[in-house]
Amino acid sequence: MTQAPALSAEARRFLEKTFPGDAAVTSPEEMFVYGTDASRRHAMPTAVVRPDSVEQVRELLAFAEANRLPILPRGRATNTVGDCIPVTGGIVVSTARLNRILEIDPDDFVAVVEPGVVTGDLQAALARERLFYAPDPASVKFSTIGGNASTCAGGMRAVKYGVTRDHILGIEAVLPGGELVRFGGRTHKNVVGLDLTRLFVGSEGTLGLMTRLTVKLLPLPAATATLALAFADVDTALTAAGDVFRAGILPAALEFLGREAMVAVAGISEVPWPAEAGAVLLIRVDGSPAAVAADLRLLETATRPAGPVWSRPAATREDEEALWELRRLLNPASFKAAPDKISDDVTVPRGRLREAAAGIAAVAGELRLKILFFGHIGDGNLHVNIMHDAADPDERDRAQTARERILGLCLALRGTLSGEHGVGLSKLPFIDRQLSPLERDLMARVKAAFDPHGIMNPHKAY
Ligand SMILES: Cc1cc2nc3c(=O)[nH]c(=O)nc-3n(C[C@H](O)[C@H](O)[C@H](O)COP(=O)(O)OP(=O)(O)OC[C@H]3O[C@@H](n4cnc5c(N)ncnc54)[C@H](O)[C@@H]3O)c2cc1C
Repeated sequence: MTQAPALSAEARRFLEKTFPGDAAVTSPEEMFVYGTDASRRHAMPTAVVRPDSVEQVRELLAFAEANRLPILPRGRATNTVGDCIPVTGGIVVSTARLNRILEIDPDDFVAVVEPGVVTGDLQAALARERLFYAPDPASVKFSTIGGNASTCAGGMRAVKYGVTRDHILGIEAVLPGGELVRFGGRTHKNVVGLDLTRLFVGSEGTLGLMTRLTVKLLPLPAATATLALAFADVDTALTAAGDVFRAGILPAALEFLGREAMVAVAGISEVPWPAEAGAVLLIRVDGSPAAVAADLRLLETATRPAGPVWSRPAATREDEEALWELRRLLNPASFKAAPDKISDDVTVPRGRLREAAAGIAAVAGELRLKILFFGHIGDGNLHVNIMHDAADPDERDRAQTARERILGLCLALRGTLSGEHGVGLSKLPFIDRQLSPLERDLMARVKAAFDPHGIMNPHKAY
């Protein structure tokens, strides 16, 4: 266990007074848990608090600013890039108790929520009123709205509905020093002044601590259907995906699994596709029942020329869910494929996907590594998992080389290092390959305007 930086007597007294009872976590064993996230890195926090009011957050950020104590906002720690790791120690602020749905307004089509609300819980509450919050990261059942906003989470439906940034209308946040700010509002349009709401979204906890979010709602689509298709190889599957758009269909989700990803899922679950297939597409459409039925037929026609080796339409909730659950199993399945993995979520322009996939396969072959790739290909977003055993120095080096080459390949295709997971710690060493010195300097100056002493989630993101 790494040693946490010591807390001064004054800071200890402040935390005990402001966070009485179990609102402060004090035992080293419990604090240890708050030192990690889904990146599987770890550093020991100096202290952990679980506020349940905005006032507590304000007092904390005033004290932290005066005493230059790092603040690490934390939702459910499902980010994969090390965003929640207290690399310099500091106070982890869990939003687990800021988890109330404050308002659902079916006339304004907005909901107002605290940041610790689990996104899937909000979606379930909205569905009961035939309302819909569109962003749906695969972690929807266990990640929070605050975490999703802070990482600008994407997900399966982004291809049709956009990413989290497109659905956050207003933000209330506490800045270092304790000032409470409110950006945006509850209108679906707003162009007055610089868009500080959108700036906060995707800022990876580096500007302030969000305490309330106003999100945009849509009517719940009355029907959905899914078409699952298997192809002989990756290139044919990606050609078929392009045919979907060319046929004039905008799917609600368009997911892709490469061969290694299919094998990994088959290792932990029954799968319906033939064992010899080389790639799978899952395509969902939504809308009125008549439109969905028509789109499903159109999908079958549009993808036929590519020659699927297997197909399964699913129009009932149970049948669809069985297919989408296989997609959600990818993350746990990948952990069975090798002791360690390097995960990236590179994104390329949609038209360059086939080149990206061919390049990744070539890297895997040349470096003799298993690379699981799958993703939200409707957005050109590929999740690349370089499987290896880090205990073997040669394999670890080859995995690092593979990562360098894949990131370089995607940038060369005019892509981005991250489509949805963010930079955190894990992509920071590569950020200069994408951002110019001027861009980085401007970002540092923007941060300084909100956080002059750099206490918010230091050494992360940009
Ligand atoms: C199985 C699995 C599947 C996933 N699928 C997807 C996917 O499909 N799409 C996708 O985009 N991501 C995905 N992720 C990544 C992850 O779920 C997202 O990044 C998610 O948005 C993180 O939410 P969280 O509540 O866990 O936030 P955390 O991981 O706790 O925090 C993430 C960031 O948000 C900041 N933060 C949290 N709350 C606040 C607040 N109130 N104010 C200011 N900053 C705050 C933190 O400081 C940190 O920088 C997946 C992860 C896993 C493990």
